[in-house]
Amino acid sequence: MAEKTSDTIGSRAPSELDIEAARWFFQNTDDVFLVLEGSLITRINPAWTALAGWSEPESVGRAIEDFLHPDDGQSVQQVVEDLAKDGQAVAEHRLAHRGGSWLWVKARAKRGATIQSTIVVLKDVTAEHEEAEASETAHRTSELLRNAAGIFTWKFNPDTGIYLVDADLPAQTTPGGPGSRVLSADQMGAEIHKDDRADMWTAFATTLATGEPQTIEYRHQVEGKPMARLRAAWRGLRRLDSGKWEILGITQDVTEAAEARDAAREGERAAQAAAEAKSQFLANMSHEIRTPMNGVLGVLHLLKGEKLSDDGRRLLEEAVGCGQMLAELLNDVIDFSKVEAGHLELHPEPVEAGVLLGSVADLLRPQAESRGLWLRAVAAPDLGWVDVDPVRLRQILFNLIGNAVKFTLEGGVEVRLSHKNARLRIEVQDTGVGISEAAQAGLFQRFHQADGSTTRRFGGSGLGLAITRRLAELMGGEVGFSSQAGSGSTFWVELAAPRVAGRAVSEAPTEGLLDGLSVLVVDDNATNRLIATRMLENLGAQVQTAEDGAEALAAAAQVGFDLIFMDIQMPVMDGIEATRLIRALPAPLGDTPIVAMTANALAHQVKAYLAAGMNASVAKPLSPTMLISAIAKLANGTTDEMIDGAGANAA
Ligand code: ADP
Repeated sequence: MAEKTSDTIGSRAPSELDIEAARWFFQNTDDVFLVLEGSLITRINPAWTALAGWSEPESVGRAIEDFLHPDDGQSVQQVVEDLAKDGQAVAEHRLAHRGGSWLWVKARAKRGATIQSTIVVLKDVTAEHEEAEASETAHRTSELLRNAAGIFTWKFNPDTGIYLVDADLPAQTTPGGPGSRVLSADQMGAEIHKDDRADMWTAFATTLATGEPQTIEYRHQVEGKPMARLRAAWRGLRRLDSGKWEILGITQDVTEAAEARDAAREGERAAQAAAEAKSQFLANMSHEIRTPMNGVLGVLHLLKGEKLSDDGRRLLEEAVGCGQMLAELLNDVIDFSKVEAGHLELHPEPVEAGVLLGSVADLLRPQAESRGLWLRAVAAPDLGWVDVDPVRLRQILFNLIGNAVKFTLEGGVEVRLSHKNARLRIEVQDTGVGISEAAQAGLFQRFHQADGSTTRRFGGSGLGLAITRRLAELMGGEVGFSSQAGSGSTFWVELAAPRVAGRAVSEAPTEGLLDGLSVLVVDDNATNRLIATRMLENLGAQVQTAEDGAEALAAAAQVGFDLIFMDIQMPVMDGIEATRLIRALPAPLGDTPIVAMTANALAHQVKAYLAAGMNASVAKPLSPTMLISAIAKLANGTTDEMIDGAGANAA
């Protein structure tokens, strides 16, 4: 503009007014004007001082080079050459600010009236330079991110539907400008695995509506290239002009990490499946062994009632002892598998803890005394009733007191029971062999024994403490011990057991309990039939038997039994089906109380039996005590409970 103006003026003689206007313009414009003679500054306008900070006395008479950056010599030299050749020149270079910093200026120079004089107009372009520099830095940074970490930056503009990528995404084929390319939303969609597209669009839509940041992992696919796994993170940027959201994001190639993670997860799943299969196998095997084992034990119990020689009786006692040990071991394995698989369910109820401890101690005392040991049970006087699973509490006590007796050669065992802050604390202290420091670490792990030789010396499976710990944890508690080799051990357990109101104990009459009652026993296993029959007969009942559900149904339809004991798994017709059909018989035949006899006594299974119309359920192996309590509960109308034989077994 300035040049054009001066040219126009140059075409005729300037008037007074022209000169006045030019002078006014020179003084008041924001453009910086300089007049040089050779390289000396002879005139400046106020805009120069405003821009560079130098006053007139500081500027006029000095060489222009004094104000230029030493590194810009080449561009200044070019100006001199262009001026000589064309009479004008344009260049960008740095100008010293009086404050010490450098400004970028665009200079236009024109030869003046004499060959030595030059008019220079300067424009401040510092802001543009800084912006270009910043964008260059950003570009370098993204290049670095891309090369070093596989990270790409991009921007999405919803108005144009265009996706601006700072650089090619991996495996892409159509590069745009240098280090960037433009991709339509459709193209972008086509490169996302079809199963990930919906999630991606939902996340995009959320940010476009609210600006909320999102992170998403997806599969990126381009024909002919291997699939990449990308992780994209983005946030909204509100546009100043339209107020709409744009998206600024980064995308990282995480293929390697994602594949490693998938492989690890797969491995974990496989390991878990293998562990579950092992646990299940162990449980199944033990269960299969337990069934005939119960037969053996049941028959031995019945044999006790027969006439035997003294020798025969001694042998029988031995057989019963060994059988009980084996049964205990099987129960341990099954329990442990159940706990491992998370299948063990608790059934808390009001329990008089001191009485329960007394009964466990009474059962173990003969064993202790036969080895010359004393066994004392001390329950705090204020103990009273607490809410706890009695079967599992008894099991914990059996394990700990049993161990204490087993690992004590002289002296004895004291068991203390107390209650504080809704927790029951058990302490079992013995004067036994103790546990060496080296052996203490893994003591609560399964199959762990302090000393391999103890297996031979004391027997045992190394499962007891592992089960005790799992049970305690399940019951909201913990276990621990202190011990010294040679001077005894103290094991303790704390369980969540809030106080509750007591329950009146009904004294069930046992003798002649079933006098004159007619009972049907249904079981496909002959030994089980024999055992149940003999136990019930001993209680005074008249017993008939059936071998499967169909036989049971036929019998029940003819004879009005007072009570039916029904196995669950049987050939021809199972116990559940038989129960349903019996319930469909006309009254009173259809109303006969039915008790399930089963080794499958998990809570949900018992629920299914009750749902089929059974009134109660007893767990195999049967014992006279269990049969009696089942019948007593039926008589009391408490029918919805499982009568479990675990405690009785352990004895
Ligand atoms: P088991 O008694 O069947 O071998 P446990 O899990 O109950 O298995 O116990 C593991 C090991 O801990 C035992 O073999 C024994 O070495 C040690 N142990 C447990 N209780 C005591 C105790 N009261 N005194 C000494 N050692 C004990």
